[in-house]
Amino acid sequence: MQINGGKLVVATPDPFNHEAIADVQRVTNLKVSPIVSSKTDVARFIREFFGFHHSISAAENLFSQRGVDLGNLERFVKLGNMDEPPATDQHIVNAVDHLFSYAFDQKASDIHIEPKRDICLVRMRIDGALHTVYKLPKKLHNAVVSRIKNLSALDMAEKRRPQDGRIKMLKKDQEVEIRVSTIPVAFGEKVVMRIMDPEILLQDLESLGFTPADLKKYKKLITMPFGIVLVTGPTGSGKSTTLYSSLRMLSSPEVNITTIEDPIEMIHEEFNQIGVQPAIDVTFGSVLRNIMRQDPDIIMVGEIRDLETAQAAVQAALTGHLVLSTLHTNDAVSTVFRLLDLGIPPYLIHSALAGVVAQRLVRKICPHCVQPFEMDRRELADLGLFVPGDGPLKLKHGKGCMKCRNTGYSGRAGIYEILAYTRGVKQLTTRNSNLGDMRKAAREQGLIPLRENGIEKMLKGQTTYQEILRVTWEQA
Ligand SMILES: [Zn+2]
Repeated sequence: MQINGGKLVVATPDPFNHEAIADVQRVTNLKVSPIVSSKTDVARFIREFFGFHHSISAAENLFSQRGVDLGNLERFVKLGNMDEPPATDQHIVNAVDHLFSYAFDQKASDIHIEPKRDICLVRMRIDGALHTVYKLPKKLHNAVVSRIKNLSALDMAEKRRPQDGRIKMLKKDQEVEIRVSTIPVAFGEKVVMRIMDPEILLQDLESLGFTPADLKKYKKLITMPFGIVLVTGPTGSGKSTTLYSSLRMLSSPEVNITTIEDPIEMIHEEFNQIGVQPAIDVTFGSVLRNIMRQDPDIIMVGEIRDLETAQAAVQAALTGHLVLSTLHTNDAVSTVFRLLDLGIPPYLIHSALAGVVAQRLVRKICPHCVQPFEMDRRELADLGLFVPGDGPLKLKHGKGCMKCRNTGYSGRAGIYEILAYTRGVKQLTTRNSNLGDMRKAAREQGLIPLRENGIEKMLKGQTTYQEILRVTWEQA
């Protein structure tokens, strides 16, 4: 709603509802000029304003009567024996519920609740970047945190030590796990909640973003009877999604899938999942050696970090198991070198490694505000994105709209680079092999590098050149 030249502009899905419009005119004493808007958008705003903002201001009014800023004067509050806003207060309960449903709506991966000097900042990580979504009155911070601690069965009284907990929640009909972490910072307790959404972690391989040719190659790798398939990339590059989605594709009543994770990211009934506990010596390596007696067919190891785990993975592969795991390397070819560095001899890599996938996540252009534009090929080449041919390129970007919070992006997709560890590349894996030579051999065998895969997505109008540069900067 806004007032424009003495007229009240009202968004409505039904501009011909004269009765309702007459009611609004009577109440506001303004001439109404209706504009059409979708029902879901109007409903969202009503929820937001009358649900969330109403809860927040009602809670604020209630507690401001006590006259003390509880956030800044914690000790005073205790001395004065003054009640904190109770976490069970219905307004607080509603406000926290709203935060969760807003996060689900926006497909946020994390919710941060941060105490600042004068406010409580709520930020959400959406498509990989943090966005400030709310600034709440500071006096409500403790109540909101208490509500979350209550939901995740944490010790409400403990405010000086970090704590970890979990919340199970239903999103539509699906169970979503929320991992809660609290830590004391300068102005109070900071809460970060990670949303483990099965819709994101378990997808069809087809929807992850592989090109048709790469998908075929990848499926061939993960359907081999034995061998190691490694997925690499930095934190947050979607490795878990690739692994979980692959395991789901492979799962059937005829195979035993066992996972060793740190920690278990998401419970999936069809897998046998083991969480490592380094404190009692339950590590990737030790579990991997022990589960051989559990007759597994397919094993997923969260990460290969050390020689012990690498050796156990090689052993498992050589005794007829398919092993999926991750490694921290930037690209597919250097992963082979990482294995050599860890101390695996070349002849074992030859016989155990099936292939490597390097990946990154790029944000997809928002379908609601996508726009074409032209860009000079040379300008792009100067930035490091080379597209053969001449003449200007027709690219796309999002101009920003309400649906994408003016970012121009909505959702993410993977870009990949697949190294099938075939003979040409194998021959070059020796104690004194050379990264450049191996890259060249890999390309000859059909490896399409990450950046080129990204350029292909950009040319198809799925993402922007900025995104490709952002996620493949180290490959320039
Ligand atoms: Zn948009």
